[in-house]
Amino acid sequence: MTEQYEVIVCGGGMVGAATACALAHGGIKVALLERFNPERQWPPEPIDIRVSALTKASQNILQQLGAWPGMVQRGVCPYRDMRVWDARADGELHFDCADTAFNELGHLVENRVTVAALWDQLDKLPSATCMTPATVVAMQLNDNGRQLRLQDGRLLEAELVIAADGRDSTLRSMVGIDVTGWDYHQDGLVATVSTELSHQSTAWQRFLDEGPLAFLPLQNGQCSIVWTLSSETAKNYLALSDQDFLLVLEQASGGILGKMLAVGPRGAFPLRFQYANRYVDQRFALCGDAAHAMHPLAGQGVNAGLLDAAALAELVIQTKREKRPLSSTRYLRRYERWRKGDNLMMMASMDALNKTYRVTALPWVSLRSAGMNGVNKLAPVKAYFNRYAMGLRDDLPKLANGQDCW
Ligand SMILES: Cc1cc2nc3c(=O)[nH]c(=O)nc-3n(C[C@H](O)[C@H](O)[C@H](O)COP(=O)(O)OP(=O)(O)OC[C@H]3O[C@@H](n4cnc5c(N)ncnc54)[C@H](O)[C@@H]3O)c2cc1C
Repeated sequence: MTEQYEVIVCGGGMVGAATACALAHGGIKVALLERFNPERQWPPEPIDIRVSALTKASQNILQQLGAWPGMVQRGVCPYRDMRVWDARADGELHFDCADTAFNELGHLVENRVTVAALWDQLDKLPSATCMTPATVVAMQLNDNGRQLRLQDGRLLEAELVIAADGRDSTLRSMVGIDVTGWDYHQDGLVATVSTELSHQSTAWQRFLDEGPLAFLPLQNGQCSIVWTLSSETAKNYLALSDQDFLLVLEQASGGILGKMLAVGPRGAFPLRFQYANRYVDQRFALCGDAAHAMHPLAGQGVNAGLLDAAALAELVIQTKREKRPLSSTRYLRRYERWRKGDNLMMMASMDALNKTYRVTALPWVSLRSAGMNGVNKLAPVKAYFNRYAMGLRDDLPKLANGQDCW
């Protein structure tokens, strides 16, 4: 027997779970499929190595979805300042929440915290069905919608399928949507570290020749590091003893947080620039990393994905409210127009920044340093960048503005 839904979301990570949650709030009969059972509980320590900086816009979305209190209960850490500087010259940028209308610039949150809080919310919403473990192995288009076959043989059908199954999206390949992109030949090395000096609720980022090194504040006083390195260096650094790793890290930090005292498990993630050439197809839409993967240097990947989730859910709910069929491609095209340009702009900015800081020729270093200091001194320009980094820009979906869309 085939189980029927209005919408099926494949991928129960941060973006897929947020999409399903928004749709279920809107009364849409939605199934969320995830191949791995997400963790809901864990001991307070150690902090997981996968941590994301969430913008104000993302916080608004998660608040509207009812997930934010569950996240606060599990642990989030506000950051009030952001300091970015160039290891090769005197270029420096300083963003301070005192220059904004908010008490913080954003929050550092373990990815598993966001996922668990969203799944908790989904459990409370009568029109949501969560299936895990559930791996999609086949999909076909028929007269009624799209039919999905799971690894265990179950058949599901929906008027619309949303793929939020990550950068290597299986569903995107099944539909035949091509991607454009390239490998950076860089990895993001991540770990949790204890430092001699307090992080002062500040996100620190030092641009080095191989890529930026970020120290991101955590609620227990430790820092989560994201260190962009050539893939070869990352491999070598993963193989170092803890003691040797702390020494190279301390040197790379420029001593900004004093001595590096301890490090937990380390991991490295290969970085890619990649976007799907189309976000939509018949009865099909992509969101999150399945649609776009970007360099993590400004921590914007999942923030962009949550904006996709909010925009797509808003349009699906509106289409249903207006009694138009979910098979219509009109609202899907609108979703693509709404999100693709914004995402490409963000991706191109991250890519340009990454390239700018890999050049070591002296005239170029002086120029970029002067640019950084110029932005730092020009209050209106700085305020623009600050708002952009906080996710507060024009044309946001309602959820990102702190309003509901159902
Ligand atoms: C080092 C690093 C640091 C980062 N830091 C930040 C940051 O500070 N801020 C930020 O905004 N972003 C950051 N990012 C980016 C962020 O991690 C991603 O954008 C985000 O995880 C994407 O979420 P997603 O839900 O789209 O995809 P994923 O997290 O990849 O989730 C996809 C889900 O789909 C499931 N799935 C896959 N295939 C199937 C299938 N066939 N059937 C069923 N389920 C399936 C997977 O199990 C998974 O749970 C960082 C990335 C890296 C690498």
